[in-house]
Amino acid sequence: DSPAPTTAPREWRLASRPTGWPTPENFELAESDVPELAEGQIRVRNEVLSVDPYMRGRMSAAKSYAAPYAVGEAMTGGAVGIVEESRAEGFKPGDHVLHALGWREVAVVEAKHARKVDVDAAPASAYLGVLGMTGLTAYAGLKRIADLKEGDVVFVSGAAGAVGGAVGQIAKALGASKVIGSAGSPEKVRHLTEDLGFDAAFSYRERKVSEALRELAPDGIDVYFDNVGGDHLEAAIGSLRLNGRIAVCGMISVYNDTEPAPGPRNLARLIQTRGRIQGFLVGDHYDLAGEYAERAAQWLADGSLSLRETTVDGFENAVDAFLGVLRGDNTGKMVVRL
Ligand code: NDP
Repeated sequence: DSPAPTTAPREWRLASRPTGWPTPENFELAESDVPELAEGQIRVRNEVLSVDPYMRGRMSAAKSYAAPYAVGEAMTGGAVGIVEESRAEGFKPGDHVLHALGWREVAVVEAKHARKVDVDAAPASAYLGVLGMTGLTAYAGLKRIADLKEGDVVFVSGAAGAVGGAVGQIAKALGASKVIGSAGSPEKVRHLTEDLGFDAAFSYRERKVSEALRELAPDGIDVYFDNVGGDHLEAAIGSLRLNGRIAVCGMISVYNDTEPAPGPRNLARLIQTRGRIQGFLVGDHYDLAGEYAERAAQWLADGSLSLRETTVDGFENAVDAFLGVLRGDNTGKMVVRL
């Protein structure tokens, strides 16, 4: 018989909705109520949690593509954990699963919403990052939205982050002739060119994006993968070549704004370039997941794709980790290890 746990498992709740930048006061650490399992459910002890920029949107009441978090209730997000008890066919104690009830130490999950993952093939956290949602976002955005072709010159913002780092590496693996990235510090710029194989990179905090692009891509760019919006988007439109494509994945520069931000002033350039700009959500592209998983495994094996992550230890530090993603504390996927 295993001894009864001495402390109740905990969860992070949304305490209040932020105006502008979120602060620790918007969150509350509380004991969770872990119900008995019903048929079809599994109890999972979470081992790694995902913290992502889209969660900022869910802290607001405004309806977005993901439902707002409810004030006073536990938040949700990606997590990988180990099954402790199962009342679902196909799942047994000791299995590792990916599921959507992060932000808590112990989760009772409907097994139909959980997917078994192989933690011998890759670390659990990889299924939250390069082998999971963020990797697929990069792949779908490049293949399907940006319609990446061999020889393309590609620019990606947020390049040292989870999605951006994957975009640069996958673009190279798919035959881009040149990949340029922007990020928020000289260390990140070094990481892009020295560790991730970017052809060029610059810090948007040190120079104007439009000037950097004119220098690093004097003949323009074919593809811009936007994670940031704002002046990055305007500069990319300004550098777009004939038949250029812009995949709008995220606009993190405006997520904490309290007023609508002005749009790019040079949209008319899309006419002469016959340029295309299209937003997308990874959730619409899970039909590519199998194809991506196969290619990603190969790219990991041959070194084209790296597993770089930033890990924050301790459940009590999950909020810090989340606020850190918005500030740019991470290189690669930010994960919380319990
Ligand atoms: P990241 O790992 O890229 O972390 C966010 C990064 O954004 C930070 O590390 C920071 O790096 C950068 N950043 C923060 N503020 C600014 C700013 N004002 N200007 C420029 N950069 C900034 O997160 P993800 O990879 O998870 O997400 C990247 C983007 O992709 C986000 O916009 C996210 O919302 C979007 N996304 C969209 C999906 C979709 O389906 N459309 C799915 C997944 C993600 P730095 O130090 O360089 O500033």
